[in-house]
Amino acid sequence: MGELPHKYEVPIKVSAIPLKLSEKTKGELKISGMMDDKGKIKLKGVSPKMLKRMKEESVDCPVLKEEVAFIQCFVCPNFQSRISGKVLCKGDPL
Ligand code: SF4
Repeated sequence: MGELPHKYEVPIKVSAIPLKLSEKTKGELKISGMMDDKGKIKLKGVSPKMLKRMKEESVDCPVLKEEVAFIQCFVCPNFQSRISGKVLCKGDPL
């Protein structure tokens, strides 16, 4: 997995106050069936415990130049994988 070409390795932070997901991200999650109508997130292969942790995480996105919730990053087209506390990001313009 580590050999995939990627531009950035973005460290994952744990924020005390979880970042809210943007309406755009919520829309994308719903379209791809990862969020139900009540706004509950369901990610395949991610346990509720893991999901709870993911909700508290964020990254300083080098492409958008702002802090984004990890869930948003996870569903981003640039997301490649998550390895030891870092996101491997393709870094393409969004
Ligand atoms: S995967 Fe997307 S959201 Fe995450 S750091 Fe890269 S560009 Fe930003």
